[in-house]
Amino acid sequence: MPLEALAYPMREDIAATINLQFAETDAQSFVEHVLTEHGNVALVSSFGTESIVLLDLVARADRNAPVLFLETGMLFAQTLEYQQDVAEQLGLTNVKVVRPAAEDLKTKDPFGRLHMGDTDACCDIRKVLPLERALTPYDGWITGRKRVHGGQRKQLDLAEVEGDRLKFNPLAHWSGDEVRGYIEAKGLPKHPLISQGYASVGCAPCTSPTKAGEDPRAGRWRGQDKDECGIHFIDGKAVRA
Ligand code: SF4
Repeated sequence: MPLEALAYPMREDIAATINLQFAETDAQSFVEHVLTEHGNVALVSSFGTESIVLLDLVARADRNAPVLFLETGMLFAQTLEYQQDVAEQLGLTNVKVVRPAAEDLKTKDPFGRLHMGDTDACCDIRKVLPLERALTPYDGWITGRKRVHGGQRKQLDLAEVEGDRLKFNPLAHWSGDEVRGYIEAKGLPKHPLISQGYASVGCAPCTSPTKAGEDPRAGRWRGQDKDECGIHFIDGKAVRA
């Protein structure tokens, strides 16, 4: 039997085992396990409103662990400043800034207005394709997604298989109160837009503040049939709705 035919189910088995064995494990221990036992693994971070929790957990496990920061060219100035401050404060030494390909911007979004007419196409060239390229050397990646975000994330588990990589979600089961409690307990810096009503922060043109009672991501692509940028997949297909 070809090796590739064996490899894919093995990853499914690994993910299933993790989901059983680590269900009751604290996030710090799980992050340490992921970074030491699953090959070359990177944290993918937006340096958004909740990102500081995973950044802190990773920094405590290994300050040299790779952190991929998706700089779409459309982020808030506050996010760019926050990214610099957080990396310095936590002592992260291996933050890699991931940017869109210059050729894609030139040919598909020369005026930076693609998001006004086709958000999926814009996310493709500014997020999905750059991340695909950046993840090439890695065996797996860590995300900050949580069930409490709602939408497609309500069924999220600790480990998933996505293509030929494992994807780890150490905070999948965390509530908003747990996130806020961790940030307070550790005295971690908060994203400056939280005080302006932003529960979740992405690109500036596609993010708005949230109202009381809304899902944390309700302000992302508000008014559109879209709640994911496409960098996360279900059954091998990009999540679009
Ligand atoms: Fe473009 Fe908006 Fe997607 Fe950012 S979130 S890449 S601006 S469509």
